[in-house]
Amino acid sequence: MTTLRTPAQLCDHGLAPPEQRAGLDTVAARYAVALPPALADLIDSHDSRDPIARQFVPDAAELEVQPQELSDPIGDDAHTPVEGIVHRYPDRVLLKLTPICAVYCRFCFRREMVGPEKGKALSAEALTRALDYIRGRPDIWEVILTGGDPLVLSARRLRAVMQELAGIAHVKVLRIHTRVPVAAPARMTAELVRAIKVKGKPTYVALHINHPRELTPAARAACARMADAGIPLLGQSVLLKGVNDAPEVLGELMHALVECRIKPYYLHHCDLAPGTAHLRTDIATGRDLLRALRGRLSGLCQPAYVLDIPGGHGKSPIGPNYLTQTGSNDAHFVVEDFNGRRHRYPPAGASSA
Ligand code: SF4
Repeated sequence: MTTLRTPAQLCDHGLAPPEQRAGLDTVAARYAVALPPALADLIDSHDSRDPIARQFVPDAAELEVQPQELSDPIGDDAHTPVEGIVHRYPDRVLLKLTPICAVYCRFCFRREMVGPEKGKALSAEALTRALDYIRGRPDIWEVILTGGDPLVLSARRLRAVMQELAGIAHVKVLRIHTRVPVAAPARMTAELVRAIKVKGKPTYVALHINHPRELTPAARAACARMADAGIPLLGQSVLLKGVNDAPEVLGELMHALVECRIKPYYLHHCDLAPGTAHLRTDIATGRDLLRALRGRLSGLCQPAYVLDIPGGHGKSPIGPNYLTQTGSNDAHFVVEDFNGRRHRYPPAGASSA
């Protein structure tokens, strides 16, 4: 099987109902579709609620846009000083090299910007301007290559960009955001791993993985090639209705990530991208899930639950709060343990002398 890119191909492979084909064609005309074999093979076509299909197979519900949904939900455009750069926070920038991904997630926060019809890879001239922007700002400590998916590029092109970035003295850390190790694990060759690892500057790789089934033996081997090469791995997951919004599934995902040497970093509340309401939970559900993980799972398995504030105001942690100040004396608190029991802090009778 090759990558499936049209509703007709999805119907032919039994991954979408033929009677919905017309609606799915309308979705596909608006938002890119690509389902690579590594993920298509995971779908149980007899399960109408399959969590892999929910993430990647287009759904007519994507045509229902809610009033609060935004074409640029996290405000990339407002923070784009030159083509290819998003500069939202003081010490780091995003560098977007390509609008292409190995798979198109149906909830993507950049769904209006990614896909073959939505834009072009950064030209050599635009890349020069982006690198000049970074060179000219000594406060930029970290550069994050993001998407589209940078790991769809050739090892030769990636190596060239990574070496340019590593050559900028004030850039100390490089980071790559990708779904390639789960979507197309065979792409994670030793050559690609060597290309993203540059001398003298650490490269972190943040992997977008939402369901434990995505961590197939091939995906685990792809991650191991990076970890064995000394590349620190981080996990980014999106909280999605019908995919990972159950404590057992989310717990299994966090365990699987840590077993693969991937430190869970963020659990993103699903952004207000157009046509994604059917995949979004409410924040109260997310907080309950985080409470269910706390204490039950190792501290290594606890991601920060975060919301990208619409309009480009950045991420804020929105996880449950365990600490309450009592009265007006800011030296006294009530802290809740993972079983829900509440304790005074400092304990009653403790002396502050
Ligand atoms: S891989 Fe990332 S950028 Fe690409 S469609 Fe999925 S969420 Fe969007």
